[in-house]
Amino acid sequence: MGTSTSPSEQYDNPTARYVYVRMCSYHRGLNLSHKCKNEQACARAGRLAAWLEGMIEESEEWFVMNLNYVSNRPGEEWRNAENSLRIALSGIREMV
Ligand SMILES: [Zn+2]
Repeated sequence: MGTSTSPSEQYDNPTARYVYVRMCSYHRGLNLSHKCKNEQACARAGRLAAWLEGMIEESEEWFVMNLNYVSNRPGEEWRNAENSLRIALSGIREMV
């Protein structure tokens, strides 16, 4: 294992990278002795980052749930995430 690459470098999408680094150092595999204070938040950030990067597919229900989550958060990166979720959701609704 090389020491020059951190796991966040797997993400090409800047918004995915931004969301990914919200996870604690334990869940990013950087510090295995760190105690995670919010496993649920880490799991959500990890899944959202993977979706933003295009690594996984998600359901309409998941888009709605995450839209509620990101729309309450300030900052340009969260607006980008919000826009991606809205576009995905409108895509699903147009297919019906
Ligand atoms: Zn964690």
